[in-house]
Amino acid sequence: MNQDTNRDSQWREELRNSLTAKQRTSIPRVVMPQLNPQYRITCNHEVNQGLSPVQAVLEATRCLDCPDPQCIHGCPVSINIPSFIKNIERGETLIAAAVLKQTSALPAVCGRVCPQEKQCESRCIYNKMKKQPVAIGYLERFAADFERENIKINHLEPKKETVACNGINIAVVGSGPAGLSFAGDMIKRGYNVTVYEALHEIGGVLKYGIPEFRLPNSVVEAEIDGLRAEGVKFIKDCVVGKTISYDQLHEMGYKGIFVASGAGLPRFMGIPGENFVGIMSSNEYLTRINLMGAGQSGEDTPVLKGNCVAVVGGGNTAMDSVRTALRQGAKRAMIVYRRSLDEMPARVEEVHHAQEEGVEFMTLSNPVEYLADENGRVRAMKVQRMELGEPDASGRRSPMPIEGAIEEIAVDLVIVSVGVSPNPLIPNSIPQLEVSHRGTIVVNEESMKSTLPDLYAGGDIVRGGATVILAMGDGRRAAVAMHKALSEHSL
Ligand SMILES: Cc1cc2nc3c(=O)[nH]c(=O)nc-3n(C[C@H](O)[C@H](O)[C@H](O)COP(=O)(O)OP(=O)(O)OC[C@H]3O[C@@H](n4cnc5c(N)ncnc54)[C@H](O)[C@@H]3O)c2cc1C
Ligand code: SF4
Repeated sequence: MNQDTNRDSQWREELRNSLTAKQRTSIPRVVMPQLNPQYRITCNHEVNQGLSPVQAVLEATRCLDCPDPQCIHGCPVSINIPSFIKNIERGETLIAAAVLKQTSALPAVCGRVCPQEKQCESRCIYNKMKKQPVAIGYLERFAADFERENIKINHLEPKKETVACNGINIAVVGSGPAGLSFAGDMIKRGYNVTVYEALHEIGGVLKYGIPEFRLPNSVVEAEIDGLRAEGVKFIKDCVVGKTISYDQLHEMGYKGIFVASGAGLPRFMGIPGENFVGIMSSNEYLTRINLMGAGQSGEDTPVLKGNCVAVVGGGNTAMDSVRTALRQGAKRAMIVYRRSLDEMPARVEEVHHAQEEGVEFMTLSNPVEYLADENGRVRAMKVQRMELGEPDASGRRSPMPIEGAIEEIAVDLVIVSVGVSPNPLIPNSIPQLEVSHRGTIVVNEESMKSTLPDLYAGGDIVRGGATVILAMGDGRRAAVAMHKALSEHSL
């Protein structure tokens, strides 16, 4: 796909010449239509509404179709960005979607949740001109949604690529983005692929973590249906390492195993009072609401509600939790974060949306103790005020406590979102597997191969909590390497 066909080169050349670079760069970046903040906190509807066809074509027109497109180098799965964008410009949106699918199993997901500002868009040539980059993420979402809607409207089956089956069985452990991306790439190469998932839903964090108002489940389902149509089999409610073992997978005839079991183990701060009622991890809070329907009519799963909710942390998970708390009826919802806004790891758009919705940002603040009422329910948190010192190993300025600056804040629900660790079950259940001191599976960075000959791993189980697109990139690299090894009969 990196090599354009002659016909592609011809229409691209004509399109390039249809407007001057000056005309293209004078078009302002599109603004994503979104729901009004006052309305959207009353419901779970998706905040970003997607571009109209006219907006998409205009935004696509901004792209200069650079001869050496640096945006591609910013994409962990190397999407041919100018090719899909120029197809949108010339009105061939289904071809644009096909270009996306060549390297990404989940473009409608990535178009919504990838941190484009740190990846592809950060490399766009517009930045050098001190202009806003081409809205690559919005366009990715547009093309993927257009294809999905087209399939729905025309009652089509998701497109099935016909590949001769080679009869070799491959198992995938975990159905998050790493597992799905790997499964998609291996099925395209002709393998029999079965994905084992511990939960009763397929999709990993895309389903149980990221809320509906940011990533509707119907979008994730449609991408999974596409994989099903290509032949990927899914087995739910099966915990590998408990329900079935690694050895049993071998006995069942699997010749290669890709472990993508994620980092679902929440971390806590270990400060006094953290066990009080009303303090829980983001993981628990979001899983109850997103996966188990807590708070929705007709659902049995309970979830604590708070009037005054503090979410500790500054990542995407913290933003999702605090915005969920607002939608659950919180009167005051705060982010408590020990550094400043500039150091926050969350996507810029999520921070912006949270601000629009009325979330308070208590930055340079770190909880040091919780206080409870007579029933053991949290009633307040003591917060240490911080200032920024020298940069630490992460390159961000490190937070230092300001002596004596401690404040007490009334809260009745605290959601702790200070990071996650790898799910320990698989590493613990396979003694021969090399595991790092952080609990991540040790792999070769190129091939994603572990210390066991047939076991490859990728995504958060290898990186610790990272991103969707990095997990997908791992899945892609593992598929290339496992296919090569199996083709050479070296497993
Ligand atoms: C709330 C939240 C919001 C986020 N927002 C963003 C965002 O906006 N953008 C972004 O890029 N990233 C975001 N992330 C991070 C991103 O979702 C993860 O990096 C990504 O999902 C990791 O993918 P994965 O496939 O490695 O693991 P996961 O998505 O965690 O999937 C792992 C799957 O494996 C299953 N599993 C675990 N153990 C077993 C077992 N023993 N047997 C069978 N199955 C098992 C789990 O149930 C799970 O379904 C967010 C994370 C969270 C929690
Ligand atoms: S760098 Fe920007 S302008 Fe150039 S091809 Fe990529 S998206 Fe288009």
